[in-house]
Amino acid sequence: MAITKENIQQLIALQEQDAALDKVQKEMDLIPRQIAVFKADLDAAKAKVAEFKAKTLALEKLKKEKELELAAREEAVRKHSMELNQVKTNDAFKALQQEIERDKAAGSAIETDILEAMEGIDSARKAERAAAAENKVLEDKANADIAALEKTLSEIQAKFDGQKAVRDGVAAQIPADMMRIYNHVRSRGKPDAIVPVDGENCSACRINLAPQMVIEVAKTKALVICESCQRILYKPEAAAKPV
Ligand SMILES: [Zn+2]
Repeated sequence: MAITKENIQQLIALQEQDAALDKVQKEMDLIPRQIAVFKADLDAAKAKVAEFKAKTLALEKLKKEKELELAAREEAVRKHSMELNQVKTNDAFKALQQEIERDKAAGSAIETDILEAMEGIDSARKAERAAAAENKVLEDKANADIAALEKTLSEIQAKFDGQKAVRDGVAAQIPADMMRIYNHVRSRGKPDAIVPVDGENCSACRINLAPQMVIEVAKTKALVICESCQRILYKPEAAAKPV
């Protein structure tokens, strides 16, 4: 493939543009990750509030159950107390009295459970309110931070688009077959697709080049590719633009 000194300079200029674009791209790639961290913090804070809310609800449910249980015991006491007047034997009277005492003792234990549940509800509600207030502060800050990051991202994107247009202008001047080689090398994870020779070595992979190859590179007449790393080679002097 025939090549001119101008092509070499265009490829080097393109590579500089692409390196700058890669840098901007890296800056952009970072932002969604930073936003994700803020969002994860927000989710964690919301989960904490929900946890206290669930605790309150569970205790309220327990309290309701205990209240029904207590009502049933109280009803039993009432019923058995009335039955006391109707029993005929002393044994039956005693048995009924014992049952009433058992229900009263059980009712008293249930009342303690209800009081404990009420205290639990009270502290869970307080914790929920505190977490919600804390969450609000965090949310406001995170939302502001996310908005700022999104603004930065759109600014960087605009910068990227501007630089990309310049880069595409440079690329348009380079023959398509050279661009194919250049793009191929870059797509293989080598952003420095065109590199100078360093004496008799490829300056990127350091392989010792065949003497004939060094001569070909020096001529700047045909495109020379490093046999080891496939990068395009040029002699450093070719990169110097005429003054
Ligand atoms: Zn090489």
